[in-house]
Amino acid sequence: MDCGFESELDQKLITCPRCGGILEINVVLPRDFSFSKLRGRGVWRYSDAIAGEYRKIVTINEGGTPLIRSRQGNVYFKFEGANPTGSFKDRGMTVAISSAVNKGYKIVIAASTGNTAASAAAYSARAGLRIYLVLPKEKVAIGKLAQSILYGATILEVDGSFDVGMKAVMKLYREMGTVYPLNSFNPWRLEGQKTLAYEIAEEIGSPDVVLVPVGNAGNIYAIWKGFKELLESGVISKMPRMIGVQAEGASPIARAVINNLDEPTFTDNPETVATAIRIGRPVNWKKAIKAIKESKGTALYVSDNEILGAQRELARMEGIGAEPASAASYAGYKRALQAGLVDKDEIAVNVLTGHALKDPDSMIKSGARRIVVNPDYLGDIILGDLNADS
Ligand SMILES: *Cc1c(COP(=O)(O)O)cnc(C)c1O
Ligand SMILES: [Zn+2]
Repeated sequence: MDCGFESELDQKLITCPRCGGILEINVVLPRDFSFSKLRGRGVWRYSDAIAGEYRKIVTINEGGTPLIRSRQGNVYFKFEGANPTGSFKDRGMTVAISSAVNKGYKIVIAASTGNTAASAAAYSARAGLRIYLVLPKEKVAIGKLAQSILYGATILEVDGSFDVGMKAVMKLYREMGTVYPLNSFNPWRLEGQKTLAYEIAEEIGSPDVVLVPVGNAGNIYAIWKGFKELLESGVISKMPRMIGVQAEGASPIARAVINNLDEPTFTDNPETVATAIRIGRPVNWKKAIKAIKESKGTALYVSDNEILGAQRELARMEGIGAEPASAASYAGYKRALQAGLVDKDEIAVNVLTGHALKDPDSMIKSGARRIVVNPDYLGDIILGDLNADS
């Protein structure tokens, strides 16, 4: 995407051999592609659309997540928390790890805010690969850290944000080509993540808008890419507008889109309760801006209070438990309605990227009535409430 280099499909290519920049994989669907002919469920149901060759597939039955209709009507929630390790990262990891195995790699590495770590650790374990995770010290939600430990990864903690770890992984990959990088600058991961769009299209056709929380910015591009492939092959007839949602304290892409800048102004001190999108230098910013512009979408940012409010509302109005970063898409939807960017009659899909259990601390901060009681007098509490109601 930086220097214009092009090549035939080469599964060993991860970054541009000429300039080191990021690569796009262009896929044209088979002429007879049709949802009605597909078999199986989840990511590999769409294997005809996934670039690359896979003699062996490393899978834990990822994808096939529920698309939940809101009690309000036109709004849907694509609940990626239902994936094997609790986030959409599993969709990309099954493809990237399968790719690594087929190309003979034995060691993999990833920088992560937590969910990539948990997912990479699980799929590496299943594939029998050695894995190193580079995590920002004391900035990873406890559920994600605990998963990475359980799956047996070696954890390398760095002082500084995710971006510091990401830079170190890119440098290592340049110097040591035998270690396979699992971050989203690896375009093979995005081949898996795009199946989220295929699932939505197969279930409800093309929505009007799709809202996605944006951190390193691979996922919004991957989802757009999925819809674009379906559009170009005539399976769907219109493109949804892609709306990227960032946290106010980590919003370089949203600010670039809002202010119509050619390039984002990065930050070295991103801050937000939504740790999964606490990223100041998104490596895939060019891809995200392409997805947003070509789909005639937009981007916006929301405050931490709006994110936590949306998280509570999802839980208490819809019964859906999403981690804070995931709730950002719903907070963004509410903002977009107010700002007139989305009409209430439009079909909107909010991508809920990860499970609430990932970040127990954020759930506990939600606040509930907790009353110490004498077990003999439970009824008195309820009767007291009923009296207060009437
Ligand atoms: C990784 C992640 C994101 C951000 O996705 P990007 O592709 O980095 O933009 C958002 N939410 C959750 C829960 C994540 O794990
Ligand atoms: Zn290049």
